[in-house]
This record gives sequence, C-alpha cells and structure tokens, in this order.
Amino acid sequence: MQSEPTDHFVHVRGAAEHNLKTVDVDLPRDAMVAFTGVSGSGKSSLAFGTLYAEAQRRYFESVAPYARRLLQQVGAPHVQELTGLPPAVALQQRRGAPSSRSTVGTLTTLSNLLRMLYSRAGRYPDGMQRLEAEAFSPNTAAGACPECHGLGEAHDVAEDLLVPDPSLTVREGAIAAWPGAWQGKNLVRVTRTVGIDIDVPWRDLPKKDRDWLLYTDEQPRVLIDRKGEPDDSTGRDYFGTFWSARKHIRHTLADTKSQMMRDKALRFVRSVRCPACGGTGLRADALTVTFRGLSIAEANALSFTDLSAHLRPVAELTEAGAATSSATSGEATEVAVRLSADLVERIAVLLDLGLGYLSLGRRSTTLSPGEAQRLRIATQLRSGLFGVVYVLDEPSAGLHPADAEPLLDVLDALKRSGNSLFVVEHDLDIVRRADWVVDIGPGAGEQGGQVLYSGPVEGLEHVTESVTGAHLFGRADVMQPHGRSPQGWLHLRGVSRHNLDGLSVDVPLCVLTAVTGVSGSGKSTLVTQVLAELVRRHLGQAPEDAEESELEIDVDDATGLESFDRLVRVDQRPIGRTPRSNLATYTGLFDAVRRLYAATPEARERGYGPGRFSFNVAEGRCETCQGEGFVSVELLFLPGTYSPCPTCHGARYNAETLEITYDGKSIADVLGLTVDEAADFLADVAAAARSLLTLREVGLGYLRLGQPATELSGGEAQRIKLATELQRARRGHALYLLDEPTSGLHAADVALLLRQLHALVDAGNTVVLVEHHLDTIASADWVIDLGPGGGDEGGRVVAAGTPEQVAETDRGATAPHLAKRLA
Ligand code: ADP
Ligand code: ADP
Ligand code: ZN
Ligand code: ZN
Repeated sequence: MQSEPTDHFVHVRGAAEHNLKTVDVDLPRDAMVAFTGVSGSGKSSLAFGTLYAEAQRRYFESVAPYARRLLQQVGAPHVQELTGLPPAVALQQRRGAPSSRSTVGTLTTLSNLLRMLYSRAGRYPDGMQRLEAEAFSPNTAAGACPECHGLGEAHDVAEDLLVPDPSLTVREGAIAAWPGAWQGKNLVRVTRTVGIDIDVPWRDLPKKDRDWLLYTDEQPRVLIDRKGEPDDSTGRDYFGTFWSARKHIRHTLADTKSQMMRDKALRFVRSVRCPACGGTGLRADALTVTFRGLSIAEANALSFTDLSAHLRPVAELTEAGAATSSATSGEATEVAVRLSADLVERIAVLLDLGLGYLSLGRRSTTLSPGEAQRLRIATQLRSGLFGVVYVLDEPSAGLHPADAEPLLDVLDALKRSGNSLFVVEHDLDIVRRADWVVDIGPGAGEQGGQVLYSGPVEGLEHVTESVTGAHLFGRADVMQPHGRSPQGWLHLRGVSRHNLDGLSVDVPLCVLTAVTGVSGSGKSTLVTQVLAELVRRHLGQAPEDAEESELEIDVDDATGLESFDRLVRVDQRPIGRTPRSNLATYTGLFDAVRRLYAATPEARERGYGPGRFSFNVAEGRCETCQGEGFVSVELLFLPGTYSPCPTCHGARYNAETLEITYDGKSIADVLGLTVDEAADFLADVAAAARSLLTLREVGLGYLRLGQPATELSGGEAQRIKLATELQRARRGHALYLLDEPTSGLHAADVALLLRQLHALVDAGNTVVLVEHHLDTIASADWVIDLGPGGGDEGGRVVAAGTPEQVAETDRGATAPHLAKRLA
C-alpha cells in the first residue's frame, strides 16, 4: 500500500501512456486544472489514459477483487507512481455512434422519474389496474408497442421512391423497385396478362391500377402467353406469379441474406410514424394514463421549460394525501409531490445550462455533442458527490460564448462543493479561468508528450516553446480577414422546420460564411438540414441517410441553387461504425498500399493479390480475431472491453501475409505508422502521397493509419473527411457545409484548418460553417447570426453582414462577443 501524502496535490511519476515521455507532474486538488496542447500532443493520454484510467482501475479493484485478472488483460496505464488521486468520474465527449433508442430522458435518467410518476401517481381510466413503471418505457417488453417493438416507426414503401420516373411505362421499367433480369420480365408479362396497359406512361395509368401494382397482397398465378411478344417470340408458355412492389420489397427485407439486396430494397422504403402508437413506441394502455391531463408521450414532447411549468403546481402542493393503489388518480398524493418536486429541481439545472428548449423524448442521435455533454454534466451535478475528480473532455465544445458562461458557473459550483476538475480544453477564454494549467507539447505524437508547463496560467506567458502560450498571450499570428465580396446570392424565402418559422435568409456565393447563434437557435437546422437538402435535391443526389429522406422541407421559394454543381457536407459523424474502417481505408490510401505489397517480388511469386493484404478478406487475415486485431473480454461492470488478439497480437494478419515486406516493413507495420511517418515511407507512391499530404495539411499528421474509426473523435473524423475532399478538390462551384469544424481543435490547429477552408473559397467554391469560435467568425467574409435565443426564442436572423457590421449592431448574442474580439 502506498502512503498517501497529505498535501493537496495529485502526484504523477513516470507517466508513459501512448506518447507521454515519462512525465512527472503535480496537479492541485479542489481546483480547476486545464490540460492544453495541440491535437495529438497527449492531453487525453494524461487526463483520461492515465489519471482517469488509474482511478477507475483502483475503484474496480476495491469493489471486485476478482475483476483484477480481467483488468490486467485490459492493461493498467503506463505510470510508475500515482499518489493523492481521488476517485474519478469521466465525462467524455461521445465517440462512436450512440444507440438509436436512447433519448434525452434516458441520458439524464429523468425518464425513470417520470415513469414512476405516471405509474404511482397518474390518473387511470375507471377500473384499470395501476401499471408498473416499466410499462411506460418503449424499451421494455412490458411497455413496447407490439407493432413497432418500441421504435415508434414503421417502414413502408413510398410511391415516389418505387417509381422515380413516372414518364416511363411499365415495360420501360417504371417500377424501379422490381427486380431485374428474368423475374423483372416475368412481372411485366404478368401485368400485361392481367389486362393492365404496359405501354402507357406510369402517370397516365388509372390510380387503381397503379395502387394494385405497387401495393396489393394478391399474387395471381397466370398463364403467360408468349406468342406475339415482339422481344422474345420463341419463348414457351408458362405460369407466372405476380408480386406487387411492396410485397417484393417486404419479402426481400425479411428473407435476403445478401447485404447488397437489402441495401437496394431499403432505397424504396421510408420510415414513417408507427400508426399503432402514433410514434410514441408505447402500448395503448400506457397512453391512456394521464398526469395533469397529459399522457406520458405528451409530457415527453414538452420542452423542459414547459414541463417544469406543468409539474410545478404539484411540486408546490402543501397538503398532499396518502397514495392508495386503487384510486383512479394519485395526482394530489405525497408521492406525486415528491416525484414532481424532484423532477422540477433536476430540470432547473438544465434550464440554467441553457437547455430549456430540449424535451425528454428527443433522440440522443439528434443532439449535438455539446448538448449531450451538458446533459451529462447536469446529471452528475445532481449526484451530490464530493471529493471526486471530474475529468472533462472539452466542456466548451459546441457552445456559443453566451452559453459557456452558465456552464462555467456550474463547474465552479462543482469545485466549491469540494471536487477537483481536470479539463481537457482548447477554448482560451476557459483556459484563462482555470486555477492551473498543464501544457503538453510541444508538437503532436512523437513530437509531443512532454509537460512544457504546470502552474498558474500567468506563468505560461514566458514558456517560449508553448504554442498555447503564444495564442493565449497574443504572440501568434492572427488570421487576417479576406474581405471578399459575394459573387451572387442564394435567396431562401419562407423556410419552416423545427423552430424556423417562415424564415427568409440570403446566403452569399463564393465567400466564406459563418452561421452563428446560441445553442438551439436553429443553425444546424438551417445549414446542415434545409440548405443541404435543397441543394441535394436540386442536384438530384440521393439522401445520405434515412433520417434525411424523411425530411419534409417547407420552403416558399429558393433561387440561386443552380450556382452549385456539387454539394459536400463535412460533418462530425463517424467515418465508420466498426473498427474495420480506419483513416487508411476511408481515404482510399490503403488501396494503394495493398497494391504496393501485391507488387513485391515475393508476393508475386506466391500469387498474393491486393485482396490478400486486406484484413477484411479471409485469405490474408488472422483467423482468431477475423482481422479485428482484438477480441472482446466480458467484464461484469464495464461495457464491452477489448484485449489484443492472442494469436496476432493486434497485427490483424496471418503469419504468411506478414512475411511479405516492403522496405523492411510488413503491411501491419504500415498500419502502425503515423501519417507523418507514412508520408516519408510512402513518399514514392504517388497515389498514397497525395492523401497523406492533405491529411497533414489539416493537422492530422499524428494519427496512425490503422487507428480504428471508432476511436476517432468527431473533430478528427471531420478533418479526415475534409482531407479526403481536398485530395480530389478542383476549381469549381461546390457548396461546402461544415458543422463546427473547429470544435476540439487547438488554436494552432484552427489556423491550419482555416487556411484550407479559405483556399477552397479562393478556388471558386462557397463555404458555409456553423461556428462558435470567435477567431473563425472574425475571419469569415460574411456572418449570419440566428437567435436571439434557443428553441421558440430563436429561429430568426437577428443580424447579417460582414463581421464588423454584425459586431456593430447591438442585436443578438454574438455581436458583443465579436465586438470584443475585433476591438
Ligand atoms: P490529445 O488529447 O492531446 O489530442 P492524445 O492523448 O489523444 O492527444 O494522443 C497522444 C498521442 O497518442 C497521439 O500520437 C495519438 O495518436 C496516440 N494515441 C492516442 N490513443 C491511442 C491508442 N489507443 N493507441 C495508440 N496510440 C494512441
Ligand atoms: P443549433 O444548431 O443552433 O443549436 P438546432 O438547429 O439544432 O439549433 O435546433 C433548433 C431548434 O430545433 C431547437 O429548438 C431544437 O430543439 C429543435 N430541433 C433540432 N433538431 C430537432 C429534431 N431532430 N427533432 C425535433 N426538434 C429538433
Ligand atoms: Zn408502434
Ligand atoms: Zn488476431
């Protein structure tokens, strides 16, 4: 047992996790400590990989000694000694894809309380038994709607997708959803045989024929008479069976084992609100129970602001009765008062954090990372812990400066109640407010991993090698505004969606525009949904995902769309959902590497083609882990944890494949290289060199080629997408849409990124960003500020113009901050 020192510091000795260079550092407790440094310098390796990982390991050892063996497999952090470390709670930004079933209510655990309220204190129809709390959850067998299994949506075919071109005749293939080849011909013959005209344009067929062809469940079996068929008069007669388009698609979705067939079939379906439960995912009986006149589904749809007002009269009841299990209503009982008061109190924190516009039922997949993290912070805050370290990942990410203030107040409150805060942070305004800063660097990856400074913020001013110090104390170059003039306009009139209600907005062409505003003001709705969708439709491109295809956009008029010949969305969604994709596969650079290995003399002699060098193909990959490089370890408390594959030790390939080397390295060694290292190693391979160069240009030189997609942060995923775009960028008339591209980036990395974005504009393209970062906004040619508030309080253009013009107005939340920045 180590003796715990009694000073108020956490002592770290010999930390060597990832790129950390045997770091010694002392961190004050009961303080806010900011970890700074460029991306890849090692901030997370110290804060999460060492401090949090060790705290968590000790915790599990203390509660479950038998977990020790398993934890050893997962590995303890590389650190020689760590003393004075309190228990830790980590609030990490989400990485990878959240479950589509989780909602704001499940994330904050408020749904549990609300269900309890409906179960114990709701108003029940006469004679109905009280339901258990689970019956109010779409995620339990007791509560889920039997039609949609709690998902709230059903899939159905849609005519406009089944028949994309109604000017075609059935013979010409109007019904795109029908299969091809012989079966397709057969269906056309059956159609003709049952007496429907196959030679008039689809749109001229009677509605009853169209409906029958698309939707009927009937499957007539008819004798096909082949005589007189112009195309194939030699064929023999046979009995043919009919399948309507819907029946065919349903059959395919239910039966096919081929992913390709499935994907094809999915192109013709649209998810619609489940008709049985109205999209709530709940059983009918649960929906008959009300509280103050609302069903639980209706309560889930209220904004927090409204829900709090709705519950307050009960929360404030002073004379409550005792609850009985037989009463039709428990609305005025002690249980009702206690649960309502608890809900109101916990919602108050969310209102303080500026999240009053969200509702419990909102799917967590639709939240921005900043919203999700604030929800988690609010949930923690309530837990009343003290004496713990909260390790936070960029709490300011995605926050307008006006939203960051209340968050800082909450963090202050956590600190005052006796906790320590270790915060990985890029926002210099937040770093300035920290009690202590640990600056890691000087560069990324191998060039980083040292503590350049640890102490009160002022002291960083004199650390010359610190990029953070340079930006914090005004020594770094500031991006000069370009002051470009628009070469035309995109005019949108009467846009309605979410909180946009008849909005009119003008977007300038061939310049860089920043769309700003507090959280919930409507920026993403306008830019990544409405604008993207309008341009996409204008270009006739297919929707990127199901959610989008569902989108009804309501716009009175849109002019100027014809100025674009391409739409590029560069968002923070993961580049892949499995560890099988990584930056090398995503950018296409791995294809070049595989060809390179297949072309070596040894590979040619053995007959290994490029496929042999893919860890997704049986031939060349490790059999034990199927090319994943690791196997999953079942731990009782931890969600799915992985340990390296015992056969290939993470190499992913079988021994024979690894025998092939190029310039002394196996294909697995190449996946272990950073982008910077690979740029040297593959300098002569033109197809790879171009990708690697663009990756370095957006500041990703520190990433390893084989780093699984699931381990990349949203910001990294976004920059990989941008680099992939840049490597094929040409002069043109593309519209680039980016959602908070600077989130998660150090000031130095922001400068790199901005240079790339401005270069795109210089090449004739239009760039529109959703942004909070003031330096980035200040460098834009044009600013559109939405607001003034979030939700119903937002959705309007409060100011638009050059950054200077917007700063000069006294309207909106952005102007004062921008004015300070430009001063
Ligand atoms: P920061 O938080 O400053 O952006 P990180 O601590 O995430 O930096 O990364 C520091 C270095 O460690 C980088 O070179 C990164 O590629 C590497 N690294 C991060 N995670 C892993 C991992 N799971 N395995 C191997 N290397 C990693
Ligand atoms: P911003 O990007 O400025 O933070 P959003 O465009 O995300 O704002 O949100 C604007 C408003 O629309 C908010 O009131 C938000 O709750 C609502 N909203 C956004 N996405 C959805 C969605 N998928 N379903 C329902 N409401 C949404
Ligand atoms: Zn349903
Ligand atoms: Zn293996």
